[in-house]
Amino acid sequence: MADELITISRDGNETGKYLESDLMMLIEQKKVLPTDHYWKEGMTSWGLISQFIAMRKEAARQVKAAADAEAARLKKEAADQEKAKKAAQDAVVEAEAKRRVEALTFTCNCCQSRFIKPFNPESEAGDGAVEIFLGSLLIFIPIIGWLFMPFVILRGFAKIIASRIKTPHCPSCRSSNFSRREGSDKSVFSN
Ligand SMILES: [Zn+2]
Repeated sequence: MADELITISRDGNETGKYLESDLMMLIEQKKVLPTDHYWKEGMTSWGLISQFIAMRKEAARQVKAAADAEAARLKKEAADQEKAKKAAQDAVVEAEAKRRVEALTFTCNCCQSRFIKPFNPESEAGDGAVEIFLGSLLIFIPIIGWLFMPFVILRGFAKIIASRIKTPHCPSCRSSNFSRREGSDKSVFSN
């Protein structure tokens, strides 16, 4: 906006010429009153300073509204971009997680459940040994201990024997009919 020279008059007498940029300050300082008149080049007649104030306020309001709208637009644009970026990142992470899970897991052909490791009956051999040991301690408890001892020890042996007979199976339905995802070359048991 060009800084134009404005002529001010009060009660029909010219009181001075001021730059438009200084006029609002002079109005605030009450050196120019709303009842004064003003004129600048291009105007066909004198105008009231109160009208000048209203015009300046409206112009300022429009500038502020435009700036607010632009700020809101930029903010929304940034938020949208951030959202899109995050969605893309999430998709990558999700795809990678899915790929890993699929590469790692087994699928039961019976109940369709997925598991990291089939249940390995060999792990029960240790339990069996513990039961035999605990069972043998029952000898120190007269009568009741002696009654239960053979059962506990037999159960321990049964577990050890079973651990050698049973094949690895699905932890959910105990089916040994499960498959590993194709392309995986890892052995079923790390041992
Ligand atoms: Zn199953």
